[in-house]
Amino acid sequence: MGEQDTIPTWEPGVKQLAPNVYAYIQSRATWFWNNAGFIVGAEYVIVIDSLATVGLTEEFRDEIRNITDKPVRYLINTHHHGDHIWANHVFSGATIISHSYCRREATETPMMDPGLLNAVFTEFDFGGIAVTPADITFDSRLTLHVDGREVRLIHLGPGHTAGDLLVHLPEEGIVFPGDLIFLYSTPLGMEGSFAGWLKNLDTVAAMDSRIYVPGHGPVCDVEGLNQCRDYLLLVLREAKERYGKGMTPDEAARDIPLGPFRQWPDRERILANVERLWREFRGEDPTTSKLDLAEVFMRMAAMAQAGEL
Ligand SMILES: [Zn+2]
Repeated sequence: MGEQDTIPTWEPGVKQLAPNVYAYIQSRATWFWNNAGFIVGAEYVIVIDSLATVGLTEEFRDEIRNITDKPVRYLINTHHHGDHIWANHVFSGATIISHSYCRREATETPMMDPGLLNAVFTEFDFGGIAVTPADITFDSRLTLHVDGREVRLIHLGPGHTAGDLLVHLPEEGIVFPGDLIFLYSTPLGMEGSFAGWLKNLDTVAAMDSRIYVPGHGPVCDVEGLNQCRDYLLLVLREAKERYGKGMTPDEAARDIPLGPFRQWPDRERILANVERLWREFRGEDPTTSKLDLAEVFMRMAAMAQAGEL
């Protein structure tokens, strides 16, 4: 069986999920290709996440304009990663909402150099990216009331990052979980908590929704959530065993059999995941015990290039 045989293809673009609720889906689920969404109310639009570059986000904004000319009043950031926030300013005039940790990370961590990003990720143009932090932050829950319906923003504790929020539309049975769900895209846990992420996915599954819009990958039902959960469980279990044997993260990353997830793109993320897990096993807090991301990125890239995984 070929490498790609278990990775389906899917239709990119705007996908209507329910009356006035849309996902914006990328055809790829590799580095910097992330999904977004929007909700059209009677008077205004709520957007969920911007994209990695100004150009991609302008295309997204134009797609929204094809459906409605109502103004974007709120822009929700599911977490602080650049692919979800760096082009917030394309929605100028929108009030930005995030978890308080997301805002803190966005403002306190120096932004990656666009020139360097252009050199490494040559398919993108990172010119003009900027950090536009949230105007409104919260720590646990915040509910927007839109035409009598609830749009619930919920933080479940550290998961993919320490400041994730998910958007839950209880009446429609739809969840925008941000990067709490990666599907056909290797989950990246370098800044959060694996134990927390798994617990959070159980909480999301218990919301009994029909539709999930992963941060990366195609729209799915609970089966997609479970696939992401299976990756996290596998990595947690296999890493723990190797941590117990005294392996280094590099040794463990090369040694862990990824099974079916070997075919998901960017499998070198296992290294960042194992680096995080070694800290988690030592009982370190992800908000204070951080990885040197640039250094880990270089090692991941070297590992991928050398075909070591
Ligand atoms: Zn992310």
